[in-house]
Amino acid sequence: MAEEKNNAPPDILTNDKTLEQLLTTEAISWATIHGVIMMDDTERTTTIHAPIGLLPAPIPKTSFDSMVAIAPLFNLLVDRISRDAKFINDTLSSAASSDEFTKNLLNIYNTARNEDGPTQPICLGLNRSDYMLQGSTGVPLQVELNTIAASFGCLSARVTQLHKYLIARHLSEHYKMENLPDNNAIVGLSSAIATAAKLYNKTNKCIVMIIPENERNAPDQRLIEYELWETHRLPMLRRTLAEINENAKLDSDKNLLLEEYNVAVVYFRAGYSPVHYKEERKEWDGLLKLNQSTSILCPSVGYHLAGCKKVQQALSAEGCVEGFMGDDDGKKLRAFFAGLWGLEKNDELTTTVIAKAIASPDDYVVKPQREGGGNNVWGEDLKKFLSSASVKERSAYILMERIKPGNFDAVLLREGKSKAGKCENEIGIYAAYIGDGQKEYLNQQIGHLVRTKFEGTDEGGVCSGFACLNSPLLV
Ligand code: ADP
Ligand code: MG
Repeated sequence: MAEEKNNAPPDILTNDKTLEQLLTTEAISWATIHGVIMMDDTERTTTIHAPIGLLPAPIPKTSFDSMVAIAPLFNLLVDRISRDAKFINDTLSSAASSDEFTKNLLNIYNTARNEDGPTQPICLGLNRSDYMLQGSTGVPLQVELNTIAASFGCLSARVTQLHKYLIARHLSEHYKMENLPDNNAIVGLSSAIATAAKLYNKTNKCIVMIIPENERNAPDQRLIEYELWETHRLPMLRRTLAEINENAKLDSDKNLLLEEYNVAVVYFRAGYSPVHYKEERKEWDGLLKLNQSTSILCPSVGYHLAGCKKVQQALSAEGCVEGFMGDDDGKKLRAFFAGLWGLEKNDELTTTVIAKAIASPDDYVVKPQREGGGNNVWGEDLKKFLSSASVKERSAYILMERIKPGNFDAVLLREGKSKAGKCENEIGIYAAYIGDGQKEYLNQQIGHLVRTKFEGTDEGGVCSGFACLNSPLLV
């Protein structure tokens, strides 16, 4: 009997369209009223429910636990990489030589540093490590490690509440509540920011959130702002990088002043994409100013660079992650690495793997140094790219093994409509870190994200329209 309680949703919904309709109406109503919403696609003046899975997605408990358990080690790894100027420069110089965006970030990293590091040694990391479970083995393999603007923590926490509501009210005979893990990301993200702010020794503090113009995902961000105010009485100001450049001032001690406030913490929800640097110099100067200040940054430009795909690939080279973390911890981290290859050389290893990828493009993905979804190269495009790009062009990209997660039946809700089909999951683990290179003030997992998409969809972004927010059902 206990086993049957873990039935995947379609077992419940098959042949019961009335139940599916009831749950759909309930889910959209609950989501809209409790803030599982995004701004509309065009004007950003009205809201619509975010794309969501109707019922939780089955995830093996052992896999879930292992991703949660490794989170503090990935945090520490990011911190150590960010402070290693030689590694950062050596690893990223070839990508920077053919990618202007990476070059600008690297310039800011080097310009803002004094001999012993950045002006403010304390960094706040709100990282999210993303995984897919290899279909044949169930082993979680890391898709990427997000060190800047890792989004959807708040909405994801609310989706867990939504599913708990739907199940408790309508499906309690089918599920065991303890298989729906709590997700306290709203509290976790906000209290990490508040902890960092406490380490900033000034009065009249504020937090600044760096936002893009015309943000669609503002509700996910505002939930942090309200929690910071309600629980910690910390005001958060939303500003673009151009506005920082124009209106924030550095005093003679490099403290950042904005209006009547001392800026204690700067939390980036923009700055990871070239589209956030429309007026070029203004935004880059704003970013430099932040990195030259005493404000605690989430992330510092060093953390941002540590999250580059090129760094992820470099870490997989023999001995590299072990060099940062020691053999034991290095080995634990390496267990989560998929196959990764650099493309900046023309040696035998590189030409062999390129030939393999051209022969079976569906087993690989090519990735540029970009964040935010929709940038990767797949299938026929991958074949064309690898066949024709020069070594210099290639060097801004990495090649990665395509992870093939198992599928399951699910119903996804988007813009008020439901659609059923075979789906795949991508799981993200949020973790907070505060450290100054010597002392660790905080290092813990703070929440999770499940994104579900129809099988056969290459990309996985929610804002970019590929995936839906979901919650885990531990099986
Ligand atoms: P971004 O920084 O744009 O989010 P990602 O590396 O996360 O870049 O890739 C975007 C999406 O592409 C992921 O969310 C995932 O759905 C898919 N993806 C990326 N890498 C792989 C991979 N190695 N195997 C399978 N799918 C992948
Ligand atoms: Mg991603």
